[in-house]
Amino acid sequence: MSQFKSLARIYRPQTFSDLVGQDAVVKALSQGFASGSLTQAYLFSGERGVGKTTVARILAKAINCDSGPTATPCLACSSCIEIAEGRSPDVLEMDGASHTSVEDVRTIREGLRYSPLAGRARIIIIDEVHMLSTSAFNALLKTLEEPPPHVVFILATTEAHKIPDTVLSRCQHFRFRLLTLPEISGRLALIAGKEGLSLDPSVVAMVARSAEGSLRDALSLLDQILRLGGTEMTPSGVAELLGVTDQALEEALLSSLLSGDLAATLRTARTVLEAGIDPRAQVRNLSRLFRDILHSLLEEAPLDGPRYGWTPESAARIAALPRSNAFFLEQVLSVLVRGEDDLRRSPQPAITFELLLARICHLREVLPLPDLLARLLSQPEPSPRRPPPPESPEAPPAPSERPIGRRPSPPSQTTGHQGVSQSSARTESSSSEKAGPLDLRIPSDWGRALSRLPQESRALLEPAHIARFEQGTLLLDTGNSFFNNRIATNRDLLARALSEAVGSPQPLRIETPAPGAGGEGPAAKTFPAPPLVSEAAMLFGSEVIGVRPGKPQTDHRQGDQP
Ligand SMILES: [Zn+2]
Repeated sequence: MSQFKSLARIYRPQTFSDLVGQDAVVKALSQGFASGSLTQAYLFSGERGVGKTTVARILAKAINCDSGPTATPCLACSSCIEIAEGRSPDVLEMDGASHTSVEDVRTIREGLRYSPLAGRARIIIIDEVHMLSTSAFNALLKTLEEPPPHVVFILATTEAHKIPDTVLSRCQHFRFRLLTLPEISGRLALIAGKEGLSLDPSVVAMVARSAEGSLRDALSLLDQILRLGGTEMTPSGVAELLGVTDQALEEALLSSLLSGDLAATLRTARTVLEAGIDPRAQVRNLSRLFRDILHSLLEEAPLDGPRYGWTPESAARIAALPRSNAFFLEQVLSVLVRGEDDLRRSPQPAITFELLLARICHLREVLPLPDLLARLLSQPEPSPRRPPPPESPEAPPAPSERPIGRRPSPPSQTTGHQGVSQSSARTESSSSEKAGPLDLRIPSDWGRALSRLPQESRALLEPAHIARFEQGTLLLDTGNSFFNNRIATNRDLLARALSEAVGSPQPLRIETPAPGAGGEGPAAKTFPAPPLVSEAAMLFGSEVIGVRPGKPQTDHRQGDQP
């Protein structure tokens, strides 16, 4: 009975054709057998539970089968049977995590001196090989350099980047991928059928989603469900068991967050907490859902397609909600990712959870910087804040207008013209007429430069403002370390694109604030007009993730002519 033996063991694939989701690996391995070009060292890398050890055992059978070497082992000869039962004298399986000493590897080397007892080759399978100690690795490397002709190594790891190049260079490397939702659901449904169970499709979907790409995890979740609840379990009972929200609750939360409905969000959050669901698991789940929505938006692929595996009903309901743009979804993801980390350390996870959901609700009201700039520029400035006329260059600049120091040359366009460019309708037409390089110290020119960038670069720079601009070096700050990091990573590419967009005679350089620096100098150095915001942020010891526009003032002044 399945209660005594795990489903993963009962239904462990015995041949390459039984495998789910690793077609590329299987194809390459099978080709090796067809062409007779077998190697002596294989490295299998990939997440846990995606089939590395299973493939290692099938490969061992394929090599040592009486009718082999063959990509289709017979499963009936003594070698195939012994390997399947884990008692072949020629196949040694060890766990890198518990055999890390150099003695362990030396023992292997001693054992390798002798020819195989029954099969064609002695096969050494080392799981989690990255856990071996350095000295054990070195000993292994020596063996890999000149392996005896009758030895085959199969190394498996979840962390390929920890494998030294010297070992990598001696192995044929196969990368195992995470399984997709349809692959996992399909396998679950097949196994349920073989076990004579009729599972509700929503239960299958829930288990598949919780397994996060690992078939082994999916099967052990199914084991738990069968052991604890049998086939009687309702979808909400399963959800409770898995510690996840059921679909109705999940959708309620998603839709209130997407609509920015704070009251409804907090109501659902309370239900989630009362159901005993771990807030961190819930946040992780939300990240996954919002990521799906972002990707489907960018790729223009439907949420209920095979890529995402949503049910058509859920996909339709989400599609009916207020339209989300990539900027908003990125902000949500950023809040969720940081929120998960906050939750880990929070002494009051329930409150942290609610706060983080509330922040997402408010994100609806945050505008991308160019939109914000356009709104600000469409408001006529009160006269005391206008820039000084050129005749009095000694006068100190008003902080909000001239945040980054005086201009090096007489500013012909700023004088008087600034007032003109602030009437919204004429900004665009004057931009096309304007000759010469843009001046990034002028807010409207920054907006104009952004609009000239390729879309990818623009998306990265849009959330940023110029915190400082000196000697061709821009200090850009988004007020958010996630977005700052993305700019820093693409610094050179962005600088090139921006230099071109600005028409700058010499190349610009881009910098971002050091992590944790919390902005650059006094708040008055930043623009557009955020001193108040920056001061407030400083007061609360928080980070600015966006600025909400003020509404009513603009309307009655809109018709104001210069
Ligand atoms: Zn066989």
